[in-house]
Amino acid sequence: MTDPSCLFCRILAGAIPSEQVGQNDLAVAFRDLDPQAPTHVLVIPKVHVATLPELAASHAEAAVAVLTLARQVAIEDGVGDAYRLVCNNGSEVGQSVFHAHMHVLGGRAMTWPPG
Ligand code: AMP
Repeated sequence: MTDPSCLFCRILAGAIPSEQVGQNDLAVAFRDLDPQAPTHVLVIPKVHVATLPELAASHAEAAVAVLTLARQVAIEDGVGDAYRLVCNNGSEVGQSVFHAHMHVLGGRAMTWPPG
């Protein structure tokens, strides 16, 4: 299930280039175009669902696959278990692409709370 008007569906289809760094049966990982840390990878489900909570409700296995791939990517990128997972859920808090995704950020010190 894809949405031709969705940026990440078009990346999945290969219509827009990306630097893919991993995948499993249900999820794909590629580097963010505007990295905010030495490691900044986006992990997305192959199915088009607008947000991660909606994905968890409708396709629980895909949500788990996103988390599993996030960990694998962090390890393969050399940051081990020291990474931040970010999900901007809703435009009010910064979500700009409405295809569920998780940011994997690592490789530098981080502060809390986030901005
Ligand atoms: P969000 O703002 O949480 O929805 O995250 C969307 C992310 O997609 C942003 O961090 C953008 O930098 C990233 N992005 C937008 N277009 C592309 C692209 N063509 N390839 C890779 N990342 C992208």
